[in-house]
Amino acid sequence: MPYYVGVDLGATNVRAAVADGDGSILATDKRATPRGPTGIHVTEAVLDAVRAACEDADVDPSEVEAAGVGSIGPLDLAEGSIDGPANLPDSVDTVPLVGPISKLVDSERVHLHNDTVAGVIGERFHADRNPDDMAYVTISSGIGAGVAVDGNVLEGWDGNAGELGHMLVDPQGRRTCGCGRDGHWEAYCSGNNIPEYARMLAEEDGDLDTALPLDDPEFSAKHVYEHADDDEFAAHVVDQVGFWNAMGVTNLVQSYAPLVVSFGGAVALNNPDLVLDPIREYLDESVFNNVPEVRLTSLGDDVVLHGAVASAITGGTGDRSRS
Ligand SMILES: [Zn+2]
Repeated sequence: MPYYVGVDLGATNVRAAVADGDGSILATDKRATPRGPTGIHVTEAVLDAVRAACEDADVDPSEVEAAGVGSIGPLDLAEGSIDGPANLPDSVDTVPLVGPISKLVDSERVHLHNDTVAGVIGERFHADRNPDDMAYVTISSGIGAGVAVDGNVLEGWDGNAGELGHMLVDPQGRRTCGCGRDGHWEAYCSGNNIPEYARMLAEEDGDLDTALPLDDPEFSAKHVYEHADDDEFAAHVVDQVGFWNAMGVTNLVQSYAPLVVSFGGAVALNNPDLVLDPIREYLDESVFNNVPEVRLTSLGDDVVLHGAVASAITGGTGDRSRS
């Protein structure tokens, strides 16, 4: 039986899975992503996770046909590495991935993607409908997207296509994004930014009566969604976040014409209705062409890991006919 390996490399955790040719996962391993001291230590953790998952599945790494990796960026596809990951300390510069994994599993077939691209590969592989034209959007600490058009998964020349969270949505640029630019989608709607955006709206509102702990340093997106049912201002924030989300998704839809847009990431997974309903509502008004189906990923937290496995099985495409 052929075996495949998938790796989800995030800023917090490294996860590895061993699967069979149907994409059924036989064993997994999860460990903390080392915060250095160098990139090689991150590489070692990835290799250790793959070794542990293989051992658990009773599969020798040399029996692995192919591997897929969904990773934090930015990627350097020519080198098969991550180049200065934004969410790890500065001492973590280059994280070699393709070469060392290739050596471990004794296969040239190692596919590296940014995590949202791996997400759309997983969605495509496991979807019942329209897998050739679809998008995957993650709304978590950041925002990003992976897109398949006419059956092609768009990667970009350097592997960094789909950084849609840094799409300019507010021409007034009232919020500054984590990347340092003004008016980006993510600056209003990612989990890290919703609290600051809520504070900005509260200031605009002046005399405000709200249960939200706006002045508490621990104030988070979770509070906003928890109070959406019983607090008028929280409901207003949820609606405004939905508006910016819909603007980002509208631009995505007009650019790539997906028939399905599925959502993942902690903010969407924890609050599916409050995140997706406003998007659906605004999309109906804002999209000129076909309004896509908007849904939550059925793969939950595992979407990138499943995508990495699906990439290994399908030669980096998610196209089941190629498995
Ligand atoms: Zn940005």
